[in-house]
Amino acid sequence: MTGTTQRTTQDWQAADSAHFLHPFTDFQGLARKGARIITEADNIYLRDSDGHRILDAMSGLWCVNVGYGQRALVDAAATQMQQLPFYNAFFQTATPPAIALAEKLAEVTPPQFQHVFFSGSGSEGNDTVVRMVRRYWDVLGQPARQVIISRHNAYHGSTMAGASLGGMSGMHAQGGLPIPNITHIDQPYWVEHKLPGETMDAFGIRAAGWLEAKILAIGADKVAAFIGEPVQGAGGVIIPPATYWPEIQRICDRHGILLVSDEVICGFGRTGHWFGCETMGFRPDLMTFAKGVTSGYIPLGGVMVGDRVAKVLIEQGGEFEHGYTYSGHPVACAVALANIKIIQDQNLVGHVHDDVGPYLAEAFALLGEHPLVGAAETCGLMGALLLVQDKATLKPFDAAVGIGMVCRGHCFANGLIMRAVGNRMIIAPPLVITRAQIDEMAALIRRCLDLTLADVRRHGWL
Ligand code: PMP
Repeated sequence: MTGTTQRTTQDWQAADSAHFLHPFTDFQGLARKGARIITEADNIYLRDSDGHRILDAMSGLWCVNVGYGQRALVDAAATQMQQLPFYNAFFQTATPPAIALAEKLAEVTPPQFQHVFFSGSGSEGNDTVVRMVRRYWDVLGQPARQVIISRHNAYHGSTMAGASLGGMSGMHAQGGLPIPNITHIDQPYWVEHKLPGETMDAFGIRAAGWLEAKILAIGADKVAAFIGEPVQGAGGVIIPPATYWPEIQRICDRHGILLVSDEVICGFGRTGHWFGCETMGFRPDLMTFAKGVTSGYIPLGGVMVGDRVAKVLIEQGGEFEHGYTYSGHPVACAVALANIKIIQDQNLVGHVHDDVGPYLAEAFALLGEHPLVGAAETCGLMGALLLVQDKATLKPFDAAVGIGMVCRGHCFANGLIMRAVGNRMIIAPPLVITRAQIDEMAALIRRCLDLTLADVRRHGWL
């Protein structure tokens, strides 16, 4: 912490643009503007280097589930760092925090999960998924089962395999992605794909059918797995119809294909159950997690390995030639244990399911009446507002207007972190948020919508 208090915002910004290449950033564009320097945080509020208080409706990057300033996590890290800051799990060794966390994860995840493979991040977790599902089919004598099916507009990370599994066309355009044997179907996004007069339930079944069509086109004997986020996060909080995931499950079962739930955002209470697959009603064979496992206080990720896969890898697999230096990092695991203890002791999953989740849904229903909002959708503590030019027809604004970015600009200036994904304004606040804080957040959102509407009228975008 050299000189953090002495330096001005301008100093920080100059040093930042001179040396720090930020993720998913136009480097030159940011250098012109200067980054916002976040210096401290408590509960659901951040403070920047100019002393502004900001309501963080995105939980950092969908990760600070227990909120900022939780002393127990700090203490867990300090204690573990003093006792044993690092040891690996490669050469027939293990550390108590890693073992205890594996045991705890078996307790809080659905019953088919008794085993975990640790990584350092969600992207690495999904790299492990790719290698593990292919290894599973190799061991079973079906090496032709190589193909992994995912969805357009999915986000599964930024490594070569993670970005390939993801369905972000901008990412695929840079660096020759996807890698071989990864293919995509359309997302179950009603605004894009639902037919006039079609019910949501019927749409969900039809959208799941795109998976079966893809499997049949490839040949089921070549398909290893299907992967999806229960609710797509980075894609814009795309909440599928209730019929979608159960039908996906039936299709995977019918063709013997492994089902992978990417729970990096949805895990650890975000949707009102411990895991998104429980909210959406399906039973995955593998589950990727990260973020909420430590509430982002320290990096940790991994893959929960269900009995079907674990049995084959353990009993017939021999050595699995894969692993990371930080697989089962003792400090990260100690922090995760303290974090899960808070989620359990404070019943944060019940808090989302019974209290603040339904309360957010009511608040969003009211915001849905705003003239700019064509649809207001929530699932637990994830929410999205679709900004439209015409409420009745859901006619979108011209893409050149960049309506989401206009609204996000107002959020930024008004002490609210809300993210824009195209024309969807999205939130995922810390699970510790209270009803009064949801009221405060909704009032800020309304003010930013009003300011955006004023821009729309002033510039004649209507
Ligand atoms: N999967 C999902 C669903 C995610 O949202 C993310 C990150 N936003 C990842 C994977 C990648 O995680 P990480 O950034 O920790 O590598």
